[in-house]
Amino acid sequence: MFEVAIHPPRRRFVCRTLSLAVCLSLAGCAPASQPVSPGGESPGAVQTVVASGEDRAAVAGEGFMNARERMVTDQIEGRGVDDPAVLVAMRAVPRHRFVPDEFLDQAYADHPLPIGYGQTISQPYIVALMTEALRLKPGEHVLEIGTGSGYQAAILAELGVDTYTIEIIPELAQQAEARLAELGYSDVHVRQADGYFGWEENAPFDAIIVTAAPDHLPQPLANQLANGGRLIIPIGPPGAVQSLWLFEKLDGQLQASNLGEVVFVPFTRSGGQ
Ligand code: SAH
Repeated sequence: MFEVAIHPPRRRFVCRTLSLAVCLSLAGCAPASQPVSPGGESPGAVQTVVASGEDRAAVAGEGFMNARERMVTDQIEGRGVDDPAVLVAMRAVPRHRFVPDEFLDQAYADHPLPIGYGQTISQPYIVALMTEALRLKPGEHVLEIGTGSGYQAAILAELGVDTYTIEIIPELAQQAEARLAELGYSDVHVRQADGYFGWEENAPFDAIIVTAAPDHLPQPLANQLANGGRLIIPIGPPGAVQSLWLFEKLDGQLQASNLGEVVFVPFTRSGGQ
């Protein structure tokens, strides 16, 4: 199952203020709506990741820097992401260093890519959208669940935040840690574990980003969010369209906003649940 490329959310609204307890069953709180057809595909369809002739020609002809510039201009700025720091970070991180060799020619294409072990590196637009929604300030303490390739963690590091990232698959955690160090992001703290439980020793976090989809908001993550903190997470059933939720903790209460529909790889549990 691959993450499906999506177009900008069709709608955005604040759900309502939720207590932590209510948030545990958040999936049931999501407003009923017609699923978006991501990228023109049927809802929940597995994306076939095949380079178009256009993608291949673009990268071969322009080189990675030009392809990256085009990615930012067309896919990200063109869809309304305008936080200058996020755009600088998306221009700085060499995404082609985070994708397997066989997909190098699609490194800057407008869709997710396989990274092995049934996982994906997210579509660039989704990375930018989620990062912007967190309204990060340099020096903040940020936790990512779902390190994958390490690309999102590198974007966070570029923003000058203190980055902690957890990956459940040991091989991906090791590879990402080595890659991040090689690219100069050695300050990123990588841990192999089930991210459901967060990273208690380093809590509270000013922001938490979850890049795999559970069917509910993990209570430990809600608990480890600082007052004034932001948490972004796709929630919904595995293999179907999920809702991207932004939570903000104000006076100990979580306020939820639905940012639209997405499809992420499932959030897995160490016990195989
Ligand atoms: N952010 C990544 C892409 C994420 S793909 C990047 O930039 O490349 C989702 C990742 O979440 C996968 O690598 C998957 O193994 C991981 N994952 C799924 N469930 C998890 C869990 N319970 N704890 C930690 N990581 C998890």
